[in-house]
Amino acid sequence: MSPRYDLHSHSTASDGALSPAELVRRAAEQGVDHLALTDHDTLAGLPEAREAARAAGISLVPGLELSVLWGSRELHLLGLWVDPDDDGLRALVAEQMAARERRARTMGERLDKAAGLTGSYDRACELANSAAPGRPFFARLLLDAGKVRNFQHAFDRFLKQGRSAFVKTPWCELGEAVRVIDAAGGRAVLAHPARYGLTRRKLRQLLTDLVDAGGHGLEVATPGLSHDQRALLSECARDFPLAASAGSDFHSPEQHWLELGRLPELPTGARPVWEHTVPA
Ligand code: AMP
Ligand code: MN
Ligand code: MN
Ligand code: MN
Repeated sequence: MSPRYDLHSHSTASDGALSPAELVRRAAEQGVDHLALTDHDTLAGLPEAREAARAAGISLVPGLELSVLWGSRELHLLGLWVDPDDDGLRALVAEQMAARERRARTMGERLDKAAGLTGSYDRACELANSAAPGRPFFARLLLDAGKVRNFQHAFDRFLKQGRSAFVKTPWCELGEAVRVIDAAGGRAVLAHPARYGLTRRKLRQLLTDLVDAGGHGLEVATPGLSHDQRALLSECARDFPLAASAGSDFHSPEQHWLELGRLPELPTGARPVWEHTVPA
């Protein structure tokens, strides 16, 4: 049987529910051979994950998921097989984290006003065990206070781009992020291309820019794609000189509709992003 890859997952180092070690153990139980831990703008979970992977006998792909700007849009770029000790990457992560902290403080102020909460920032910090809590923690506060019907509603009503508590953030620009990942020995892969609400034309423009910047691939095997989305991503993997990646974007066992390593096949003819890598 060919090895099973899951190259996109989250731990408590960002907005995941499982510690890095718990995540790795779950991946091993699910038959994953190569797991990438890709927390948002942080490398902090990697040492624990590496230890756990050694104990569980699977391979840990060191990674992260960078928030980047493409024009005025916020996108997510995975860095896979990065060297976590690379100075340039560590400097970028420090900048992103500082931006995250400022953003979280502003988001808290806005939610206190717009949703009538109190101390949102401090409470989100407690939930996240971090000074730079991401939006899912604010969504949790809104849900617990009965201000929204469900998690998704928190994003639709307050947190997503265009809503009152969305904070425009000076993330690293796409091309710069690709260069930093590349210099850290990694491969830059566009995360969940179908989730940005881009038209086919816009998506192709984005992939052209990604290729020009030296990007390596795009995620095509992800759970929950419609037939049309799958067809579009297969077309892109064929038409652009980009490799195809596979990742669940696992955050929590409560997402009962997805599981680590449970992914569709790569489209025929696509070049896997893990080709020409020697498993660690
Ligand atoms: P942040 O890193 O703070 O920008 O938060 C981004 C994270 O929030 C994503 O990785 C998802 O976990 C979650 N998220 C973003 N948009 C949505 C949405 N529309 N519905 C539910 N969760 C979302
Ligand atoms: Mn997330
Ligand atoms: Mn993402
Ligand atoms: Mn993710």
